Amino acid sequence: MGAADATWRARGACQGLDAEIFYPEDDEDLAEDAKAVCAECAVRLACLNHALDNREHQGVWGGATARERRRLLRQRRRTA
Ligand code: SF4
Repeated sequence: MGAADATWRARGACQGLDAEIFYPEDDEDLAEDAKAVCAECAVRLACLNHALDNREHQGVWGGATARERRRLLRQRRRTA
């Protein structure tokens, strides 16, 4: 993990919260609590970009579920 990576993580609104919130059993239907935290997070975009760049397949990152991130990756490929 690089220094920049560590910096945004430490500033995440989810720091200290139960990680299970961000890994709900069904991240399409049960992600609302996580998304509410992400919506207030100052480093949401850095977090989302990290998840997209690293192909994180589980959990809510940057306010986006795994399915939403797959959609974003497809859009990224189309516009690249
Ligand atoms: S965007 Fe969400 S998951 Fe990412 S650091 Fe912020 S609160 Fe945590």
